[in-house]
Amino acid sequence: MSSRRSESEDIQLKSKLPCIRCNKSAKTNVYCTQCHMTICISHSSQMSPGNQERICDECLEDFLSSQLPDTQTIINKIHNEIQEAATTRENNTKDLCKISSQVLNTRDQCMSKQELLHNEDILLEENLKRNKNIIKTTEESIEKKGKEVEKIREEIEFFKEKISGLDQEIEKSSKEMKELMHERNNVLSELNELREFVKMQVPVRLVKRIVCSMCYPKVLVEYHKIFKPENATNGTEIRSSSLSHETSKTKGACSSCQVF
Ligand SMILES: [Zn+2]
Ligand SMILES: [Zn+2]
Ligand SMILES: [Zn+2]
Repeated sequence: MSSRRSESEDIQLKSKLPCIRCNKSAKTNVYCTQCHMTICISHSSQMSPGNQERICDECLEDFLSSQLPDTQTIINKIHNEIQEAATTRENNTKDLCKISSQVLNTRDQCMSKQELLHNEDILLEENLKRNKNIIKTTEESIEKKGKEVEKIREEIEFFKEKISGLDQEIEKSSKEMKELMHERNNVLSELNELREFVKMQVPVRLVKRIVCSMCYPKVLVEYHKIFKPENATNGTEIRSSSLSHETSKTKGACSSCQVF
């Protein structure tokens, strides 16, 4: 207790001294608890005004300065940050330039592609028109061909009917032909009979007796000419000619030349 009292007495005593900064003596002068110097109110106004236990402005400044971080470090840090930011900005600018040129290129490509697509569109439209026309023409020709096919079918039907009619006619004709063949065979057999009969009537041996040896070959040739199958119809003529031979026999020995 006694030491405290002496301390407060000491403070009271020192407070009556003039200010260490401005040499002002006042009842309001205080004792700085930091630097242990007497200080006036105006040189200790920044902290706890009116409080008897306080520190001078200088000590307060020192205290505040000690509380603040190192300025140079902060400056360096900020400088580094600025440098970093500048580098980043530069890189970003480069990237931006790159991207910008890419965008420009892409835009150009897009433009040219768009132009190409537009041209292709035009070509496709033209092709479409052409194909439509072709389809139309083809449809028309198909319709025409269908009509032609219908016509041909009708003609085929007509010809089928005609053919069936002709078939019937052919059948009829073939029957008639058979009948005619039968008749022909009959006539031929009759003709053969007749030929045999004629041969019996005018045999070659008989002719030899009534012509001379000079005329006999000629008469023989004539005889064979006349009695060949194709000349069979001339049989009656032969008979008549042979009859004439017989009648002329009385005039000479040869009935052909009248010489002998
Ligand atoms: Zn002080
Ligand atoms: Zn002062
Ligand atoms: Zn004769």
